[in-house]
Amino acid sequence: MAMELKKFVDFDNLTNAFAARTDEALKKANFVFSTMQSPTLVKVGSQLMEFSLNVGLPVKGLIKKTIFNLFCGGETLDGCQRATNQLAAFNVGAIYDYSVEGEKSEEGFDATTEEILKTIERAGQFEFIRFSAFKVTGLAHFDLLTKIHAGEKLSKEEQAAYARVHDRVDRICALAKKMDVSVLIDAEETWIQKPITEITVAMMAKYNTEKALIYYTFQMYCHAMLAHLKELHLHSKENGYRLGAKLVRGAYMEKEAARAEAMGYENPIQPSKEATDRDFDLGTKYCIEHIHEIGLFAGSHNEKSNYLITHYLEEFGLPRNDHRVYFGQLFGMSDHISFNLAEAGFNVIKYVPYGPIKATIPYLIRRANENTSVKGQSGRELTLIRKERARRKGLKKG
Ligand SMILES: Cc1cc2nc3c(=O)[nH]c(=O)nc-3n(C[C@H](O)[C@H](O)[C@H](O)COP(=O)(O)OP(=O)(O)OC[C@H]3O[C@@H](n4cnc5c(N)ncnc54)[C@H](O)[C@@H]3O)c2cc1C
Repeated sequence: MAMELKKFVDFDNLTNAFAARTDEALKKANFVFSTMQSPTLVKVGSQLMEFSLNVGLPVKGLIKKTIFNLFCGGETLDGCQRATNQLAAFNVGAIYDYSVEGEKSEEGFDATTEEILKTIERAGQFEFIRFSAFKVTGLAHFDLLTKIHAGEKLSKEEQAAYARVHDRVDRICALAKKMDVSVLIDAEETWIQKPITEITVAMMAKYNTEKALIYYTFQMYCHAMLAHLKELHLHSKENGYRLGAKLVRGAYMEKEAARAEAMGYENPIQPSKEATDRDFDLGTKYCIEHIHEIGLFAGSHNEKSNYLITHYLEEFGLPRNDHRVYFGQLFGMSDHISFNLAEAGFNVIKYVPYGPIKATIPYLIRRANENTSVKGQSGRELTLIRKERARRKGLKKG
């Protein structure tokens, strides 16, 4: 990587990167990331994990001690306290992310809403970074969202169910406004995106009158997303609200390609990784260029993209800790990016997912898949962890 990129921060500083992790924690992370190097192990392990929990085999303890503890803060909100304190000690914020997915009942959706409200109350107690995040599929039936996206006619019951989804999101956003906590509404599969867009835009128009409080997620792996970002920016200007823009690359690439092929429509995903990278970076630059009208949350583990944002801030004359620009990573991943950015004075937050072990399995499987050696991510994590362990051993010997 060119030296110039590291002008404002250096992700190779491992002392900062792993300052929050004990030797024991590094040893465990080493084990989990080594295991995830094998795509076959990840595939078999994911199926085994789901199957064992579904039939009640006693594997919770094992999952908790390994992959769960690495990627999740705890099973409850209170259980996340240790993880968030550890981050806060190094000026890294935490976003409590109740990671229960695949909920199917109205009671379940209401219970998830209550839990998200609690995360907002809790985030409101933080002094320096106040964010919360959720997925609409935690509050709405997936099939209902699919139907709305496809433009199908809804029955009376379905219309009522959709109105309840709006109400749930509105309650969350109203509390967020009251507590001055920003809310990130995650993006999921593209074939449920239209209702998520409709709801999120309605919330931004209602609550983002003074600043970007509610954030829409742009998945830059979609080839239409850069244009969509500019279109929503224009919409926000015309309708008198601030655009909250959370930019990510996107986590459902394989599913998207498989569905598009099976159903015979054009794959919405970019033709190449380079095209995704280009649009992600153009997107963050666009937001920073228009920062007086946009709040940016850049969620990425890509070193170059994170370095580039530090340069865009400089280019447009903004301070490192501008209150409209946040860097975000996931708990357990890319600490070398998060902790070095925070040390250099940038605003950094990590998603801290939590929830009952069984309910977080889809999240854990996505992380495991993202970290196989095919995608390259765990290779990097592993190399860094091994380097740091060697460095600490050297220090002890010396
Ligand atoms: C804080 C945070 C919040 C997140 N929230 C969401 C969310 O709400 N919704 C969501 O979907 N994801 C979310 N993600 C996950 C994110 O979308 C990515 O899957 C993940 O971060 C990996 O991308 P990267 O930017 O870290 O970098 P990299 O590891 O450099 O990029 C990997 C990504 O590039 C893209 N890609 C890879 N190969 C190709 C290819 N051949 N063609 C086109 N594109 C390709 C894919 O999106 C892949 O995930 C979040 C991530 C973070 C850190």
